[in-house]
Amino acid sequence: MHDLTRCVQHPAVSHDGFKSLAVPTYRASTIVYDDPQDFARRAARGLDGYTYGLHGTPTTRTLEAQITALHGGERTVLVPSGQAAVAITMLAVLKPGDTVLIPDHVYPPVRHLCTNYLASRGIAHRVYDPLIGAGIADLIDAGTKLIWLESPGSGTMEVQDVPAIARAAKARGVLTGCDNTWASPLLFKPLSHGVDFAVEALTKYVGGHSDLLLGSITVKELSLRQALKDVLGVLGIGVSPDEAALALRGIETMGVRMAHSGRVAREFAERLQAAPAVARVLHPALPSCPGHEIFTRDFNAASTVFS
Ligand SMILES: *Cc1c(COP(=O)(O)O)cnc(C)c1O
Repeated sequence: MHDLTRCVQHPAVSHDGFKSLAVPTYRASTIVYDDPQDFARRAARGLDGYTYGLHGTPTTRTLEAQITALHGGERTVLVPSGQAAVAITMLAVLKPGDTVLIPDHVYPPVRHLCTNYLASRGIAHRVYDPLIGAGIADLIDAGTKLIWLESPGSGTMEVQDVPAIARAAKARGVLTGCDNTWASPLLFKPLSHGVDFAVEALTKYVGGHSDLLLGSITVKELSLRQALKDVLGVLGIGVSPDEAALALRGIETMGVRMAHSGRVAREFAERLQAAPAVARVLHPALPSCPGHEIFTRDFNAASTVFS
C-alpha cells in the first residue's frame, strides 16, 4: 500500500476488553455501506438505522435513548437548540389554514415564531390564558391542530393544568406539545400526563455548564417521530456529536445539580419574599404563585428559575 493510501485508511483495531463508562464521540458525514445493494436499500433502515451523519450517530442516539427513557417515551430527536425544538414540532404538525393555541406566558421567541414566521405562511395562532385549564375546550375549533403548553411559564411563572388541557385536546383530536425546560424530566413528565410532544432546551439543566446549545423532542407515537424526521430531513437539520457528548457528560450530574440549585433558589425566594423592597415573588413552590396547587399536585419538586 502506498503511504498516501495509508494516510486515508484508518487501521481497524480490536475493541476487545475495552469497556469505557464514557460514550464515544462518533463523528461522521458519509456512512460506509457494505455494497451497492446495501446503499440502495438504505431507506429501509428505518427510524433507528444509520444512513448519513446528519441523521444520527451512535453518540446522538445514546443521548436520545437516555432522554426517551427519562420521559417514558418511545423516541426522541435532538435538534440544535430549545427554540428549534419548538419550531420543528410546530412545522411538523401545522399546515396553511391551521391554528395553534399558545399560552400568554410562552417563551417570547415562540410568540415571534408565530407572529413573524408562521402567520405569513397561512398558519394562525391564538393566545390563551395559561390558567385556563379544561376551559381550553371552548377555544378549540375545526382549524385548531396544536395546543402549546409551557409550565410554569417564562417570566410570570403560572403553573398550567397540563392533564386537563391534554384531555380536552385529545377529546377533539388536537395534538399537544409542552415546553418542559423548567422542570426537566426529573421533576415533571408531560407524556405521562397525556401530552404528545415533550420539548426540552437541553441547553439548560442537561447541559448545565453554559457551554452547549441543544434541544430535544420526545414522543410516544412512532407516527409523530416519522413526521419530525420528515421535517428534519428536508430542512437539513442535525446535531453535532460533540454537543451530544457534552450533554451526555452534563446529564450525569443533573440530579445533584438540580437538587442543590432548587434548594438554594427556594431559600432565596423565601428571603426575597420577606424583603421590604420586593412586592411579589413568583416561585411555583410558594403559595403566592398562580397555579401553586397544581404544582403541588403534579411536580416532584421545584426547579431553580423564579421571578
Ligand atoms: C432557554 C429556553 C428555551 C430555548 O432554548 P435555546 O436552547 O436557548 O434555544 C425554550 N424554552 C424555555 C422555557 C427556555 O427557558
